[in-house]
Amino acid sequence: SIPLGYFGGIGAASKHGILVKGSNYLEGLNSVKTVVFDKTGTLTKGVFEVVQIQPENGFSKEDVLFYSAAVESFSTHPIALSIERACQKSCPLSEFKDTPVFDYTEFSGLGVKAKTDSKTIWVGNEKFMRQENINVAEFQNIHPRMKLGPNEFFAGDVQTYVFVAIDGVYAGKIIISDAVKEDSKQTISDLKKAGISEIIMLTGDKKSVGDACSTHLGIDRVYSELLPDQKVEMLEKIEREHQIGHENKNENETKSNNENKNENETKSNNENKSKNKNKIAFVGDGINDAPVLARADIGIAMGGIGSDAAIEAADVVLMHGKPSQLVTAFKISKQTIRIVW
Ligand code: ADP
Ligand code: MG
Repeated sequence: SIPLGYFGGIGAASKHGILVKGSNYLEGLNSVKTVVFDKTGTLTKGVFEVVQIQPENGFSKEDVLFYSAAVESFSTHPIALSIERACQKSCPLSEFKDTPVFDYTEFSGLGVKAKTDSKTIWVGNEKFMRQENINVAEFQNIHPRMKLGPNEFFAGDVQTYVFVAIDGVYAGKIIISDAVKEDSKQTISDLKKAGISEIIMLTGDKKSVGDACSTHLGIDRVYSELLPDQKVEMLEKIEREHQIGHENKNENETKSNNENKNENETKSNNENKSKNKNKIAFVGDGINDAPVLARADIGIAMGGIGSDAAIEAADVVLMHGKPSQLVTAFKISKQTIRIVW
């Protein structure tokens, strides 16, 4: 049976806009030592805005915006929505929506591709362009100065490039900006004060963006340019690391890490599972990370702008979409356990 104190805890959490889907998760939060965050929509607002369009190879700004918007109007990704909004602003008749689009394909974590006006259009990141054999070397050499500088970050601005190709030719890039949420930085430092030993960020975004963002926020480790499947693999890798680390701690506190790693790597995972292991919480918005939410010991979804899929897949939902609600959730978990035991 479930101790009564847990119901109190779940109720207290809900008053703070935190939906906990079971007493086991409230209890589990108290054993979390590692928090893994998604970047876009979780630590950043995930509401993008087009700030600049740089056409190339004889194409115009209008070409780049019009064709990318026509194709992106089939996508619900926040990047797609920003491109649509920008196009709507510059061509109020929304002609791009009347343009027939066919053979539309979305490559999650990469971009979109479709045909329109007897042209084939690609919109996405550098990895996508490379994969689709669009000349990457060419556009990298054109703008060696356009690398993201660290200063662009301190204002909390996250700039991402979206590349556009028309009929296999690089047509230019769209520079879009996202902003770090107001409470993200404070949350990272509060979590550390609350005893979380490691904070990790996973992102599908470029390495330069991931690095700058994590440095700004005070995050310990970052993995960038991950596709949705690779985010799951990375979480599993982090889990294995922690199981090995935890086991070593119990058995051989004085040994060096490397020494222990080799000895224990072959032990089965199940052996560790039964122990009171350090749990890993994953916090995401459900866009390209719902499988990670489902897979994590404790999956925590951002409500608000987050997707229904995220709320479904998660164990805990932060209804206001604020990272700082996580600090409150940990506090409530701690208090509840004190009452129950
Ligand atoms: P994150 O991991 O930061 O939450 P996503 O996994 O949602 O980001 O997307 C990773 C990257 O894939 C984006 O930064 C973008 O470059 C590219 N991408 C994904 N979907 C689209 C799209 N519809 N249009 C253009 N680019 C896209
Ligand atoms: Mg995301």
